[in-house]
Formats: sequence, C-alpha cells, structure tokens
Amino acid sequence: MAKIQMRTPIVEIDGDEMTRILWKMIKEQLILPFVDLKSEYYDLGLPHRDETNDQVTVDAANAIKKWGVGVKCATITPNEQRMEEYHLKEKYKSPNGTIRAMLDGTVFRTPILIDSIKPVVRNWKKPITIARHAYGDIYRATEYRVPGKGKAELLFTGEDGEVTFRKTVYEYEGPGVLQAIYNKDSSIESFAHSCFKYALAAKEDLWFSAKDTISKKYDQAFRDIFQSIFEKYYQKEFEKSGIVYFYTLIDDAVARVIRSEGGFIWACKNYDGDVMSDMVSTAFGSLAMMTSVLVSPDGKYEYEAAHGTVTRHYYRYLKGEQTSTNPIATIFAWSGALSKRGELDDLPRLGVFGKLLEKACFQTMEEGIMTKDLVGLVEGKKVESVSTGAFIGAIHDRLEELLK
Ligand code: NAP
Ligand code: MG
Repeated sequence: MAKIQMRTPIVEIDGDEMTRILWKMIKEQLILPFVDLKSEYYDLGLPHRDETNDQVTVDAANAIKKWGVGVKCATITPNEQRMEEYHLKEKYKSPNGTIRAMLDGTVFRTPILIDSIKPVVRNWKKPITIARHAYGDIYRATEYRVPGKGKAELLFTGEDGEVTFRKTVYEYEGPGVLQAIYNKDSSIESFAHSCFKYALAAKEDLWFSAKDTISKKYDQAFRDIFQSIFEKYYQKEFEKSGIVYFYTLIDDAVARVIRSEGGFIWACKNYDGDVMSDMVSTAFGSLAMMTSVLVSPDGKYEYEAAHGTVTRHYYRYLKGEQTSTNPIATIFAWSGALSKRGELDDLPRLGVFGKLLEKACFQTMEEGIMTKDLVGLVEGKKVESVSTGAFIGAIHDRLEELLK
C-alpha cells in the first residue's frame, strides 16, 4: 500500500518517561508504516526544556498557533524532587499551563468507551465530555487567614484612581477566613467560543452550568456571556446541526448528568470542571482511557492523553522489567490530530486512517487483548493481560488488515 500523504505538518511534541517510550513505539509501529508523516518536532522532554531554558515550550505553542494542529506526549511538571533528579536550572512551569495560556484554550476531556467495560453509572452509554474553564476563580484567589476581630471590605479603584465600589464583606468578631476571586470577560468569552466550536465539530449538545441563583453577579456574568455569544454567532449553526445549547443550574446539571445516557459536552467553571472531570473519568473506568483536547477560540487544536508520564512504570522499565502501560489515550491523541489535519486540509484518506487506527484499538480490546490496568475492569469475558509491546503489536496487525 502506498503511504498516505499529508499536506501540512502537525506539531509533534515529545515528552517524558514512560509516555516517551510509548510515543516512539506508537510512531514506529502505528504511524510511520502507513503515513508519510509530515511533522514539526519539538522535544519537551525535561532535559531539553532545561537546555533551552524552557524556550522550546514557547516555540511549540507558537508552532501550534502557526500550523493549527498539535499532538503532545505527557510531560513532567517539575517539583523539588524533579529539580534534584534532573539537576534543573530552574523549576519550570507546567508545559500544559504555558501552552494553554498562549493559546487561550479550553480543555475538553472525553473517555474512550469499550463494550466490555461498563461505566459505574449503568445508564451511561455514550461518552460525557467535560469542558473546563482553565482560568481564574479560586486558582488565582487572594486569601487571608483572618486572625481576629476586624472588618473585611471589597473595593474597586478605577483607572483614574477613584474608588467606584466599596462594600463591607464581613465584620469579624473573631478569627476566620477570607478570599477574593476574579475572572475577566475576555477569558469567559474565549471559553464560550471554544465550547460552541467544539460542540459543532462533535455534533453534540452543549450544557453549561453555574450557580447564578446564589452568585447573582459573578456566575450570572458567565451565564449572560455564554447566552449572548450563542445568539450572536452560533445559534443558527446549532439549529442546522440539530444540536442544542442550554444553561442550567449546577445542582440540576449534576442530577441530569447521572440520569443521562451520555453523549454531550458539559461546560464547567474552573473548580467544577476540576472536580467533575475526576468524578466522570473514574465512573467511566480509567484515567488511561481518557483523551484531552485543547481548543483555542480561533480554532487551533492540541491533542493529548489526560494521564501523566506514568513514572512508576518507567522506573520498572528502566530496571529492565516488562511493563503493561496502556497506550490507548496516546494513540487516540495521534488519531485525533491526524483526523483533524485531514479535515482541515481536505485529505479524506488521512481522516479515514485516524478512524481505522481507533477501530484497530477497539477490535484488539474487544478481542480480549488488553493492558493490565483494564483487565480488572472487564465483566463477563475472558481477557488476556499483555505487555505494552505485545498490545501495540496486536493493534498494528489489525490496522494493517483494516487498511487493505
Ligand atoms: P500518572 O502518570 O497519570 O500516573 C498515575 C498512576 O495512574 C500510574 O502510576 C498508574 O497506576 C496509572 N496510570 C496512568 N496512566 C496509565 C496508563 N497509560 N497505563 C496504565 N496505568 C496508568 O500521574 P502521576 O504519577 O501523578 O504523575 C507522573 C508525572 O506526570 C508527574 O511528573 C506529573 O507532573 C506528570 N503529569 C503530566 C501530565 C500531562 O502532561 N498532561 C498530566 C498529569 C501528570 P499504577 O502505578 O497503579 O499502575
Ligand atoms: Mg482534579
């Protein structure tokens, strides 16, 4: 078979530890034999980030801005222990945080479902995608541990130095806690655009939830911004696609999500998205089966696995032990990026390749060949736990068959 041709490069962002090992295996066995891969390569492995003083992360984000589609391997976010382990010059920021800030993007997380693994919530039949607003709120809060009696006030000083708002928050009679949070319209607008665009691309309903009954200015602003952007830019396209946008109170959303059969996008404020995505992913099965896409408001895409670099497996791998690390989410990052590139460049064969790569993964798992993390989750079926290498090999064979 002649290799599938590409027109525009995808931005390939390499990473760390076990996922870096997976990356190489996936490329060599599942991509390069079939696709004449055009990629612009950025090595975000921690040693190279250190060599470049993290410039490579900025370069990678700029490349996604330029080319439109990236695929990223998991990377280490350094902490004190990593500083020592890698003799780093500096405690670099999270690469995902840097890229997200530069693209002003929203993260969408979707579980990958297979028939033999049943979600804990029995009526969930289709994936639930969580879109988390990744800016502001308590993640950028100013906090104070109030020592004792006193008054807390909220005040706003305009550009001209004039105080235009001043209100007592609370008059403390003893010790307590105090917090101020903020957000900005431009970030909420970007979040809304990304959500509407993603829903249209996925052809799935979009839900947005907040607590506007209690938070009559803060959460109400989120609700209003979503509504006005929807009406102004997306309502017609939603109608054409037969999908729906609706806002509901978060309490109601939680109840509806549990009763639903899935198959929609749930846009959440920062904290809600943080908490709910962990709940939803656990209820669907495994973090190793969760993909993550960063979408910018102007339609740039970065695909990755939701999990980290699987450090524990990597240390075993370094000792020469066989590991059974699940490559599915990383493979789906590749298939997602290649399909998107195919769509943008009007190269249907590339899109078909992405779909068949995913199909080969599903076939392999449905035939009972799995990595160790999944074996315990399967019900009513005999399954075999295999090494990462054997698993990728089995996917390769099925993909080759499908592509004939
Ligand atoms: P992790 O890499 O997601 O792994 C946590 C545990 O989850 C693993 O030890 C493993 O459990 C299980 N697991 C995760 N992915 C798996 C897979 N593909 N196959 C099988 N099991 C899997 O999280 P972490 O250990 O907290 O973080 C490790 C490093 O990753 C950190 O340096 C962190 O900074 C980084 N990180 C990066 C990203 C990113 O780039 N997107 C995200 C999160 C964390 P068992 O050991 O029980 O088998
Ligand atoms: Mg969380």
